[in-house]
Amino acid sequence: MKVKNFFKLFVLMLALSVSFYSCDDDDNEQEIEEVVNDDTKGTNEEEVVVESAPKYVFFFIGDGMSSPQINVTEAALNDPDFQLKSVGIGKLNLRQLPVTGMQTTHAEDRYITGSAAAATALATGKKTTIGTISMNGDHSGNIKTMAEMARDKGMKVGIISSVSIDHATPACFYAHNESRNNYQEIGQDLINSGFDYFAGGNVRFNKYKDYSLADFKSDAQGKGYSYVSSKTDFDELNEGSGKVIATLKSLESFTGDGSAMPYAIDLDEQANDDKISLADFTKKGIEVLDNENGFFMMVEGGKIDWACHANDVVSAAMDMMAFDDALGVALEFYNQHPDETLIVVTGDHECGGLTLGFAATGYETAFDLLKYQSRSFWSFTNDVIGWAQTGEKTFQEALSDVQKVFGLGDAGKGLALSDYEKGLLEDAFNRSMTGESAHANEELAVIYGYYDPFTVTVTHILNNKAGIDWTSYSHTGTPVPVFALGIGQEAFGGYYDNTDIGNKIIDIALLNQ
Ligand SMILES: [Zn+2]
Repeated sequence: MKVKNFFKLFVLMLALSVSFYSCDDDDNEQEIEEVVNDDTKGTNEEEVVVESAPKYVFFFIGDGMSSPQINVTEAALNDPDFQLKSVGIGKLNLRQLPVTGMQTTHAEDRYITGSAAAATALATGKKTTIGTISMNGDHSGNIKTMAEMARDKGMKVGIISSVSIDHATPACFYAHNESRNNYQEIGQDLINSGFDYFAGGNVRFNKYKDYSLADFKSDAQGKGYSYVSSKTDFDELNEGSGKVIATLKSLESFTGDGSAMPYAIDLDEQANDDKISLADFTKKGIEVLDNENGFFMMVEGGKIDWACHANDVVSAAMDMMAFDDALGVALEFYNQHPDETLIVVTGDHECGGLTLGFAATGYETAFDLLKYQSRSFWSFTNDVIGWAQTGEKTFQEALSDVQKVFGLGDAGKGLALSDYEKGLLEDAFNRSMTGESAHANEELAVIYGYYDPFTVTVTHILNNKAGIDWTSYSHTGTPVPVFALGIGQEAFGGYYDNTDIGNKIIDIALLNQ
């Protein structure tokens, strides 16, 4: 009986630890005492004068994307084997955006921001507090978003995300809530928004209190939405489809990864119905939204952030490429409508404290070593959880799996493991197999974060061998670059605050008129 209870507890602990892999922890993270000064809360709003407002506005947000994420992806792209996995470009599409700026990202009440406060700043031009969805920091009132302004102006509106469509970043464009975790209420705001196209991850119906996915679908249909989850139905969507909520088939039942789309690196392993990329959702969005009054479209690459929380640079780079492929679709549209389009690309914050350079590799880098990783940290962690449940995996067998999935341990690939690295892996393996709490003490918190000890040690060693390192499992306060192309692009040059981006887009597109 005792053994049985212990096993139950162990499974519960694993389930709890898995729930942390989905970056829902912004609200649970230890509050950082550093609070911004009052005089940094305001924005340096300048009147933006444009001759004509863009008819088509694309706002691309790479969650967790700052300069290091961009640099490391381009470094990987320079390897021909990596290139084969993307669209065959040598540089990211975002290089085609001629105007570059830089933004500060702090929240109203914390220096290092979270996705809700950051997306509120980007969507509304106003600072708010951590965890708040497009409301004032004290939750005394809602703040109208640029997407709602576009809707009220008669433009069509599309919201696309690779994570759940009610996650903090997309939610900040259509919902108003004191907490990003109130998924049921955010889902109601979604179907009441009147927006025209929601696509990507599903709603997080497993977080609903007294409501089901069937209830959501039925109520969405009552508000005029078609809920589409098969690839065949998705392919048939067009400008006559009316209001649409489009997601992946598997996400009607699978909620294990936060109702998000799979990591781009794992896309090939998915069932056919689920082989819809962020670029596919973007391309279809243009078809559905294009109309004589124009449209506003927000596209989020949400899993760049999740991969960076987990310190898995290969999964982050692959999701960066998926995000950049989606941008490529918008650039094709721009080339057909250069005098009527504005495209803005930025991130909401950096994540992981990613850096190009590592203490033990000094000035050397070896990005080509990254190409041997074939699955995401998340996919591999599920294997490790399975091993812990059966208790039958030996360390040597685990090392053999690591070699298959990451190339690590294969001397022929330049990935031989030193005794020091083997020691790190064995310690981590033992901790993964016993389910030791990652935050049992300060040392474990530093070396594993909230992640599976074995998996995160594997990605750390592979990343370090390539000359890449991480300083955090959370977001950082590093400023974030901004890229712009099209009508009003000049306004995005310079160094400014994240709220200024929201205000610039609202002003240039005359959304508040
Ligand atoms: Zn995050």
